[in-house]
Amino acid sequence: MNAEIIAIGSELLTPDRIDTNSLWLTEKLNAIGIEVRLKTIVGDDDLRLEEAVRDAVRRSEVVISTGGLGPTEDDITRKVFARVLGRPLVLDDAILDDIRRKFARIGAPMTSNNERQALVLRDAEVLSNPRGTAPGLLIQHDRALIVLLPGPPREMQPMFSELILPRLEKLSHGIRICKRVMKTTGLGESALDQKIAPIYGQYSNPATTILAKPGEVEIHLTAKSDTTEAAVALLDELAEKIEDELFPSIYSHRGESLEEVVGLGLTVKGYTIATAESCTGGLIAKRITDVPGSSEYFLEGLVTYSNGAKTRLLGVPQELIAEHGAVSAEVAEAMATGVKAVSGATIGVSTTGIAGPGGGTEQKPVGLVFIAIADDVQVEAKPYTLFGSRQEIRERASQIALDLISRRFLL
Ligand code: ATP
Ligand code: MG
Repeated sequence: MNAEIIAIGSELLTPDRIDTNSLWLTEKLNAIGIEVRLKTIVGDDDLRLEEAVRDAVRRSEVVISTGGLGPTEDDITRKVFARVLGRPLVLDDAILDDIRRKFARIGAPMTSNNERQALVLRDAEVLSNPRGTAPGLLIQHDRALIVLLPGPPREMQPMFSELILPRLEKLSHGIRICKRVMKTTGLGESALDQKIAPIYGQYSNPATTILAKPGEVEIHLTAKSDTTEAAVALLDELAEKIEDELFPSIYSHRGESLEEVVGLGLTVKGYTIATAESCTGGLIAKRITDVPGSSEYFLEGLVTYSNGAKTRLLGVPQELIAEHGAVSAEVAEAMATGVKAVSGATIGVSTTGIAGPGGGTEQKPVGLVFIAIADDVQVEAKPYTLFGSRQEIRERASQIALDLISRRFLL
């Protein structure tokens, strides 16, 4: 079965409001085997909405709209669907009574434009809205099932989950969709694709999507079958082949984040960690502490941005900074040993670099970052030349630091 979504509202076309309804609905529909093939965002424009609805009803088995069901002049959803489907709007007395009662309960006067919300398309099924005034509507039209839902997520979501999802689940003949996400680091998107395209290219089910982010590439597999077990078996088969090919670049087999993988590894080994960050400004500490339970292994994180802070808090000798510069392997190493010493952690990690956009020189360009790791045996700093915006350089640096930890201590 296939579906499409129409999100209605001019505000959704602007940066002020993002259409999250369609994302939420797509996830729910996919989970019961209904494939969302298209979504449209339409402003409060009569003619454009009419065109969108006409196309949708012609090509999709399930059409879901959200928004534009309220009492104001710009709420045109009902009117336009009525016109396209050739069904008159009729006043539903039960809804009108219900809206009157809702206003009486909160002691507010009911303006006459609220009556508009009691208009329903002929032969439509009314979906009650306990959390708002505008009810939803369900219409079976030729082959298409059409559902009109209110815009506010707190009204739309329960209406969909309680009244629509169970029905669609029956109609979708119990097809199950299962997903798996694998994450890799250290390989570029095209290099990764070259390795695994010959493998996943042989499978149409599961479907494979490659998504690149700063410092990592994700592989998303989506399998469909009659049962969850059969879908998982399809995932297992393809995932194993991809994992064999990409080992050791894969750090996550079930969508876990790198910081979760690091946290689990540190817990198992009984290691503790502390960070001294300059150019990443605390991002590594933030990511490590994003994981619940990280207090078990994360002792402290210092953001030593100035030279003074590096000396005062980490004991990095002033002369070392004067001789090599704050962005250097020597200072990165002194920072890592320094934070290991002051915290008493098993592992000390440090970053120092030039995140840009200014501050670069010929010898030390923007994007040059030294990352050092100190343990009981050794300390080692490595230079990395990272590209992208300030934000991306910081993200990539934090990614490399966490990846170094997981490879060095946890594999
Ligand atoms: P109301 O009775 O509240 O007017 P409505 O069905 O007319 O309901 P809209 O007026 O279109 O809905 O939208 C009301 C609010 O709901 C919007 O201001 C927005 O905050 C939220 N909303 C609408 N559509 C979406 C969407 N697609 N994604 C996320 N939020 C939305
Ligand atoms: Mg409205």
